[in-house]
Amino acid sequence: MRFGIYKSLTFPIFIVFLFTVLFVECQEKNHHQNEKDRIIGVKIYKIDGDVKMLFEEWEELGINTVFASPSLINDEFRESAKKHNIETFIILPIFYNPDTLKVRPDLYAITDRGEKAVEGWVEFVCPSREDYRKEKIGYIKILMDDLNPDGLSIDFIRHFVFWERVYPDREPDSIPNTCFDSHCIEKFQKDKNILIPDNLKNAPEIAEWIKNEHLDEWTEWKCELITSMVRDIVQEAKQINPKIKINVHAVPWRQQDFGDGIKVIAGQDFSKISAFIDIISHMTYAPMVKREPEWISSVVQDIAAQADCRIIPSIQVSSPSESSSAEDSAAKKFEQSLIEALKPPSMGVVFWSWERFEKNPIEKGILKSYLDE
Ligand SMILES: [Zn+2]
Repeated sequence: MRFGIYKSLTFPIFIVFLFTVLFVECQEKNHHQNEKDRIIGVKIYKIDGDVKMLFEEWEELGINTVFASPSLINDEFRESAKKHNIETFIILPIFYNPDTLKVRPDLYAITDRGEKAVEGWVEFVCPSREDYRKEKIGYIKILMDDLNPDGLSIDFIRHFVFWERVYPDREPDSIPNTCFDSHCIEKFQKDKNILIPDNLKNAPEIAEWIKNEHLDEWTEWKCELITSMVRDIVQEAKQINPKIKINVHAVPWRQQDFGDGIKVIAGQDFSKISAFIDIISHMTYAPMVKREPEWISSVVQDIAAQADCRIIPSIQVSSPSESSSAEDSAAKKFEQSLIEALKPPSMGVVFWSWERFEKNPIEKGILKSYLDE
């Protein structure tokens, strides 16, 4: 009788055991698969040394993707990338364009204070100018023909904001909202079927009225300007190379930060943008914006909840001046940032930048030992 009980229990226990083994094996397989698909990338804007040696070092470190300024890419760069199996994305700034603004100041975006969209080195073009948008897409197509990259890394695809200087305690209302030049005001009224009262004469008055009466429509319209530019770039790029991969550089703000500033100020709606692209890489430069390393994974999770594409945070390598006084502390934070950046659902990490790694052997060493493990 007792033997019978044991016998009747043996089969269910065996089944549970079998499923547990299969589940663990499956998880293990997924884990390795994820690791294999993981992007370990560097951003680079300038090369001083030997290109071939650079790629050798990248391969040795475990870097499999480079995000580079188009000016760096020549035959030697391409051949080395191929030899070392490293994918190349070209970095393409869209609405940040001081060179063009120098010769065409009529293109400046205008803030809610009626001023040109300029703060420090950050200068922005009005995003509703059809001629500028077409020129930019034409330029991207020429670059694709000339350089044949594996991917496009679309940068400054947003409205004007110097987010690098927006710290956690910033009042949302103190961040400039754009663009209130005549082109945008006219297009907004037409697209949203809204009529601005005649007695409002200048940009600050109009901006105040729009923000008070139609902030939701205004924000939605701002986001549409950005999403449609992403869509247009992708559609044209895929005509040249249907396999081209697309990354978008994102402002590192969660939905609750700065009064939904990611949409209200920057005009980046990840739920819409992600339909057209492969990767969102937000610039989670924790030391720069006075955040702790844990903040990096919280931004990944927030964006992953909105977006239907891969999320790969970009993190900051300390510059020597930052690390000279508190080198150990900066290096420790860098290591923690790297761990946070790779926590699921992240699909990798991108380092800003290689130039910084070259001047910071301690943090380069941390990367090497981490990837070796
Ligand atoms: Zn405008």
